[in-house]
Amino acid sequence: MIDALGRNITYLRLSVTELCNLRCRYCMPEECVCKLKHSQLLTEEEMIRAVHAAAKLGITKVRITGGEPLTKPNILSICRNAAQTPGILETDITTNATLLPGLALSLREAGIRRVNISLDTLNPEKYRAITRLGELNSALRGIEAALNAGFEKVKINAVLIGGFNDDEIPALAALTVKWPVDVRFIELMPMPGSADFGPESFIPVSRVLDALPEAVQEREEGVAKLYRLPGALGKVGLISPLSQHFCAACSRIRLTADGKLKPCLHSAEEISIKGLNEEEMMEKMRLAILLKPACHAELSAASPSRAARNMNQIGG
Ligand code: SAM
Repeated sequence: MIDALGRNITYLRLSVTELCNLRCRYCMPEECVCKLKHSQLLTEEEMIRAVHAAAKLGITKVRITGGEPLTKPNILSICRNAAQTPGILETDITTNATLLPGLALSLREAGIRRVNISLDTLNPEKYRAITRLGELNSALRGIEAALNAGFEKVKINAVLIGGFNDDEIPALAALTVKWPVDVRFIELMPMPGSADFGPESFIPVSRVLDALPEAVQEREEGVAKLYRLPGALGKVGLISPLSQHFCAACSRIRLTADGKLKPCLHSAEEISIKGLNEEEMMEKMRLAILLKPACHAELSAASPSRAARNMNQIGG
């Protein structure tokens, strides 16, 4: 599907749950007050129907997300069915990795090709502070499980937060030397439901380059600007939703766990597909794609996202 501005929409982010086993401060409130009734959630059958509908409209890539997708009891079946959908060439997952040790091999066998893992710090106390619940070691064990499971690509995503982890840029980037992973720094986005972050927390990813003078630029890939440290096995990526948005290259639509299509991450516009048949879902997806705005409003500490949902209710 080509949208009203000529962008080719090929990528569906499918959130399978808004529940999470962590409570990242930039993502969701401490008390997870958001539990939906079972009847409000898409069933597995509806999720897969939506993937089929999307594939018929030209979507070729699906990323499974959440909440924490690995807390979903039927996650393997969802992944397998999404990956086997005719027209879907790539099915990936985004996870905090803490449950990967028991699931990595099965996810690979279910057809997951690439894994993105969220990891903002290598300091156990800071990991506990930012996730409110997490143990750094569980995430590190999950990364090792992912590396051993034979995924085509493992990426580590770190949200860059001024005064919190900007002192760890060299240590996080050095993971690309130790392991065959890409490490991508993402600017903190001012989302509803996140803890209060002051203006000093919102720093541009250009700071990463200041901290890595030895990094050499590589060709751009998707929304990330890429660099490589000397001798590294993987790349360092910079993703800049605030300082240099990439709306003109946006190829995504999002589907939330309660069946709302979101044409844009940062707009309140939502279109429900809960309870619809495949034809009707396709109709709503066409509409969502046509409603994709040219760009979202400017984001800053003073001008937060208009998403009208916490990030765990969207999927990132
Ligand atoms: N639970 C999974 C995880 O931790 O990766 C998947 C869901 S999480 C909502 C998806 C991504 O959104 C994560 O990489 C997370 O860091 C990112 N994210 C959440 N809130 C964010 C914010 N305010 N700014 C930037 N990235 C954010």
